[in-house]
Amino acid sequence: MSIPTPPPDGNDRKEPLQPSESGARDAWSLRIATVSGIPIRLHFTFLLIVTWLAVAGIGRGGIGSALFMLGVFLCVALHELGHSLVAQRYGYKVRDIVLYPIGGVASIEGTPRPRHELWIALAGPAVNVVIALLLAAYLAATGGFAALESAAALADPAQRAQRMAVLTQNDLALSLLVANVFLVVFNMAPAFPMDGGRVLRAALALKIGRPQATRIAAAIGQMLAIAFGILGFLNGNFFWMLIAVFVYFGAGQEAQAEQSRAVVEGAAVGAAMVREFQTLNVGDSLRRASEVLLATHQQDFPVTHGEEVVGVLPRNALLRGLAQQGESAYVSEVMLRDVLFARQTDPLEDLLTRADGVQRAPVLVMEGERLVGMLTVENLMEFLTLRQIATTRDEQQQDGR
Ligand SMILES: [Zn+2]
Repeated sequence: MSIPTPPPDGNDRKEPLQPSESGARDAWSLRIATVSGIPIRLHFTFLLIVTWLAVAGIGRGGIGSALFMLGVFLCVALHELGHSLVAQRYGYKVRDIVLYPIGGVASIEGTPRPRHELWIALAGPAVNVVIALLLAAYLAATGGFAALESAAALADPAQRAQRMAVLTQNDLALSLLVANVFLVVFNMAPAFPMDGGRVLRAALALKIGRPQATRIAAAIGQMLAIAFGILGFLNGNFFWMLIAVFVYFGAGQEAQAEQSRAVVEGAAVGAAMVREFQTLNVGDSLRRASEVLLATHQQDFPVTHGEEVVGVLPRNALLRGLAQQGESAYVSEVMLRDVLFARQTDPLEDLLTRADGVQRAPVLVMEGERLVGMLTVENLMEFLTLRQIATTRDEQQQDGR
């Protein structure tokens, strides 16, 4: 079994200004705003595209299309905020919103209950409906719809393109109206990872439970993707085919994620944790730590100071410490101090969906002040495998009857 080890990104240094869980995301994106405590970030590919458009657009009505692009991305950001604010209202934590050239992604932690998921998924497209209605009202008030007729009358695509290049204020509003209608239609397609897929799953889950609802919604999404892909192929439309592939794999991924979530459902941290392990003392040398590493199967070690648990020493922090400071350095110099603690009764599912879960370092399980267990990635994988086998056997026996 190959398990990705956490990257050596200097997590052992305490840097209060830089939350370690989002370190990797920060490197590829630029924070542009914070709304309701949610950081909104621009992904670097987005900056590339905008730069390219700006350069390519110079001298060809670039300002008009740049304004339009800006407007569309504002609408996409508001769409994601719609999802996020409703999620927050139901008590879920929203990690961030990242804007990519092909759309936005709001990362909501935890697994929303079906009724919550339904409203969270609907909230995004609802924002675009409201924006479209506002733009329509504005256009109706300013006589902008007359412009639509004249634009539609231009059958020649070259002339229409020319019109697009010299966008007047009303044309901009009109284009944004069309873009918002498109955003609603596109996002409400009943296929993961689009919102429509989530709405479908949530609605089904209210009746038949989440695992089966996900299977059906994912299957429908994949069928739609195949149909769309064939249509794109017949039309020679490469872009459609690309979207079809994206949707096909998105649906598969969602089904997979739901499967591992269903496997841990109802399990508590105490069921999966390591109960027998060695601890190290803050005053131990790295030589002593490497002896224990060799003598046991253990890869990560809780570190104590007297009775108190003060940190954890994962294998790669130990190796790095040995390479940089040598055998005589102390455990206290290289251990991680910002440890994640849990109780035996905590749901395992919560740790799986948390960004700073068990991936970086083992979670220490406490009972009051006493250290009773440790949850490592390796152990978690073993637990998932065992549960999966048990579940499959149960299903086979039920089918056999
Ligand atoms: Zn959405």
